[in-house]
Formats: sequence, structure tokens, C-alpha cells
Amino acid sequence: MITDTDNAGGGSDTSRHFLRQWIADEVAAGLPGGQVVTRFPPEPNGWLHIGHAKAVCIDFGMAREFGGVCNLRMDDTNPSKESDDYVQAIQADIRWLGFEWDRFVYASDYFESMYAMAEELIRRGHAYVCDLTQEQWKAYRGVPTQPGTPSPCRDRNPDESLALFRRMRAGAFADATLCLRAKIDMASPNIHFRDPVLYRIMRVAHYRSGDAWCLYPMYDFAHPIEDAIEGVTHSLCTLEFEVHRPLYDWVIDRMDELGLLITRCGQTVRPRQREFARLSLTYTVMSKRKLLQLVQEKHVDGWDDPRLPTLAGLRRRGYTPEAIRDFCERIGVSKYESETELALLEYCVRDDLNRQAQRRLAVLDPVKVVVENFPDDGETWFDAINNPEDPASASRLIPFSRELWIERDDFMENPSNKFFRLAPGREVRLRYACLFTCTSVVKDDAGRVVEIRGTYDPQSGGGTAPDGRKVKGTIHWVSARHARPVEVRLYDRLFTVADPLADETRDFITWLNPDSIRTVTAQAEPALMGAVAGERFQFERLGYFCADTRSSQPGAPVFNRTVTLKDSRVNAVKG
Ligand code: ATP
Ligand code: MG
Repeated sequence: MITDTDNAGGGSDTSRHFLRQWIADEVAAGLPGGQVVTRFPPEPNGWLHIGHAKAVCIDFGMAREFGGVCNLRMDDTNPSKESDDYVQAIQADIRWLGFEWDRFVYASDYFESMYAMAEELIRRGHAYVCDLTQEQWKAYRGVPTQPGTPSPCRDRNPDESLALFRRMRAGAFADATLCLRAKIDMASPNIHFRDPVLYRIMRVAHYRSGDAWCLYPMYDFAHPIEDAIEGVTHSLCTLEFEVHRPLYDWVIDRMDELGLLITRCGQTVRPRQREFARLSLTYTVMSKRKLLQLVQEKHVDGWDDPRLPTLAGLRRRGYTPEAIRDFCERIGVSKYESETELALLEYCVRDDLNRQAQRRLAVLDPVKVVVENFPDDGETWFDAINNPEDPASASRLIPFSRELWIERDDFMENPSNKFFRLAPGREVRLRYACLFTCTSVVKDDAGRVVEIRGTYDPQSGGGTAPDGRKVKGTIHWVSARHARPVEVRLYDRLFTVADPLADETRDFITWLNPDSIRTVTAQAEPALMGAVAGERFQFERLGYFCADTRSSQPGAPVFNRTVTLKDSRVNAVKG
């Protein structure tokens, strides 16, 4: 397994990847038509995920870099499960990621051209209508090591095929009875060359064309035609299409013969396809079918659940477009299938939020502290830096009073020598405020600490000892009187194992992490109450958090933890 966290330091050179090199060489040699044209062709049958982001960054990125254009094309030639809701979501996600298309197109707008092309192939003896059932033609096709068996319909005369094909379109035959097949090579070692199916009968209403068609083209036939119509020069896709490339070229060759390739600046534009490895990430699943299952069976709360690797989920979780683009840059582009560590994605968002996010104080698991030598109704305001990484971000005032909340696990009654936080008789720094020494604790009947009592050093304003004595531990806190309770959602990996699909005998659903979400009521400093939906913060010592865009109300934000400050499992990842 290639561990992509090795790239986290930014050491490896991902900039000269093979696709960039390919396009650069062609541009240098004088690309026919003079312009790089790419496309991003999602099928509108699900929301985009982080894997799609990789493809988006490549397709839009290459066009941008070479002064070309990139089309956003809904690859909607397979009507089952497609819908306009998905189209809207896809557009929103691409814009959010920071890309804008030059043309927005639907493959379904080309149905008539595709059909005309099919008729022309029949006329010229390049395609025939076949009566074999799907099972039969698969059996006839055979295995790569031995030539396949030709269909009895292979030499059907073109006029007869044409008449049948027109009746297929007119609805004269039942679903999956007849199909149109290309006549290529039944002995080819490439199975996709053995008279592939071009059209099948399927009575499914299309979300755009309705019932206009009962005949739909196969991907391998439709995709090169779509590319050719748009004058795409570089058709970039994932590795599983590599074996389909000869078929892609075959369709383009036929279009060339028919004079159907477009010209740009007086030159014929011939689309070519190249393939790169798809992204897969540990501890999650990426296939749209599986994501749909998680959504439909309500294992998660919709496509934008913050635990999903969808762009909408990551956005709600608090990921920035910059972090995702940085991630896509770091993973690079290659032809090696590998599993990328989720930790790398988390590294990228930490890196970006460290620069961007303002710091705030909040306590997730509060226990009361009483500062005995501070007046009952007194208050002091201390200056707190908003973002040490950003000199322009200034500072704010935070209130301090006699009763505070601190994190329960920042106190230990019988600590070891390695515990530098609060304990009886020990002194710690309360971040931005002062030094505090614990003198006693109050417990409930069950023996649980309910109150920590002690005194502060009035000479230690801001947290520095007047006599220069060393205080190792610094903890965060909020003033109990000024703090407000807020709902905070703490997320963990969606699955308990790195590859939930590895064991084929086990349903991946059984690997869901039952603790992937935990909701707590935190105590937050007053400044957090004005957080607007989508706003991101660092809660000091706790991680990065984002005001949820669905649940937050004005004055009452709900926070999602994007990521902890450090990867507490870093040893597990590296080891
Ligand atoms: P899924 O496997 O999630 O259903 P798909 O390939 O069917 O994905 P499409 O909508 O056809 O989804 O994808 C649009 C584009 O995004 C295609 O060019 C596809 O190659 C690319 N793509 C899809 N998944 C990934 C991935 N994990 N990594 C990189 N590119 C991807
Ligand atoms: Mg696809």
C-alpha cells in the first residue's frame, strides 16, 4: 500500500504528472484546433464526493492551466436513478470548489444525433440488430483467451437491421429483447471489442426527455460522441475505462469517416481519452451506489451528512474548498491504484484552518472551578488573540469571574508526574488570564468531583508569573456566568475498519462505527454566540469547528467538529 501521508510534508513533486506532460507536449507541438477543451461528465444519479473532486480539479485545472475551456456535462444517458435534484447539487458543489464551467450541457440533448449516427453505422455495415438475450450474447462473447462465437445475426443485411432498429425506436419490442451491436471483431483479445452493444431497449422515463425514448445508448457509444460534438480534445477519466479506450477510438474513427468531427480554426478536432487512478480513501466508501444505500437506509442523515465523503458533507463538516484543492494537489495524478489515508485529508484541512480560523474558548465536558479569592460579583476582561497566524485578526476581550468551567479531563486528583494540568496543590495557567492553584475539591455522594476550588495569583494577569516561576500546564476555560450552553457534534470515522469493502463475505454496513457521532452540550465563550452558519473556528486545544448550516439559528449556533487539532491516532497511521 502506498501511504500518501508521506506527502504530507509537501516533499514529493506532484506537479509534473503525466496528464499535464501529455497536454503540454501537444500544445507545444501545435494542438489541432489550437485550444485545449476538457469536460467533467458526472452522471446526475448522486451527489459529488471527494473522488469527484479529484476529477474536477484535473478536468477544470488542466483547462485553466492551458488557457482552454472545460464543459460541465451531465452524462445522463442512463435514465434510471437520474434526477434534476442531483443536477442542482452537482452545480453547487463545483462552484463551491472554486470552478466555473465554460458550457453547461446535457448528454441527453444529443440523443437524436446519437441515434442518427447509429443508423449510419447500420447502413455502412458497422452495426447490426441482434436478437440474442443478454445472457446469450455474454456467453457467445466468451473469454479473452479464446475467440468468441459470432451471433447468428451478425450478417443480417443492413436494410433489415435498419428496419428493425426503427421499429425498436418506435416501441415495437419489449425491453431487453433486441439490441444494436457494433460489428467489430469477435476474436479480439479485448472483450470490449467483441461486437459491443450500442443500444438497448429500456422503458424507463428520462428526467428530461420523458417518454420520448425507449431506446438508450450505452456509455461506450455515447461518451465519444458527446466528446466529439463538443470538440473535446482531452477526455480524462478513471482507469477502469482504459480497456474501453480502443472502442472509444473506434467510435471516433467512424465519426471521422462520416465527417462528423467538428473543426476548430479550420482543423479537425479528434478527441482522445487518457486515464488516471481513482481516489479511494480509508475508513469510508466512495461509490455512489453505496452512498445512496447509506442515505436511503438512514444510516446517515442525507447526502450532506458531515460524516460522508460527499463534498456537501465535507462542507457541512467545516472543510474549506482550499483544503480540498490542496489535498487533490498533494495526492497527485498517476496510474497507480492506491488507498489514500484519511489522515492526509485531515492534515490538509488543519493546515488551512490553522491559517484562516479565529480562535475561541469553549469547554466540551465542563466541571466547575471556584476562584475563592475573586469577588463574588466581580468580573475582569482579558485580551485574547484571535489568530496568532494572522496579524490582521487582532484580539478580543474575554470575561473572567469567580466561577469558571474547565475541561473535566484537565483535572486529576491523583496525577502522575507526567500530568501537567490541574491537580490538588498544583498551579496551571488559565489561558490568557492568570495562574491558578487548586486547593480543594468538592465531591458528590458517588465520589465524583463536582467542584474544584482554589486561588488565583492576582499578580499574574495575562498568565505570566511576576517572579518568573515556571508553570508548565496551560488549560482553557470559560467564565460560568458569561458562558452559554451550545450543542456540539463530535464526529469520528464512519467505519471502524480502513477498508469496509475488503471482506466480500461481509456486508459493508456491518462495519459502520456506532460512535461516528456524539453530541455534547458545551459551554462557550460569549463571542461564539454570534457565529453565523458555516463560520469556522478553532476551539483552543480542542480542534476546528464549524457552525452547522442546517441546525444553527441566529444567536444559537450548533457546532460540528471538523477535525481535532492533532491526529491522536498518528502512531496508528504511521505504524
Ligand atoms: P461512482 O463510482 O461513485 O458511482 P462514477 O464514475 O459512476 O462514480 P460519475 O458521475 O460517472 O461517477 O463520475 C464523473 C467523473 O468523475 C468520471 O469521469 C469519473 O471517472 C470521475 N470519478 C468518479 N469517481 C472518482 C474517484 N473516486 N476518483 C477520481 N475520479 C472519479
Ligand atoms: Mg460513471
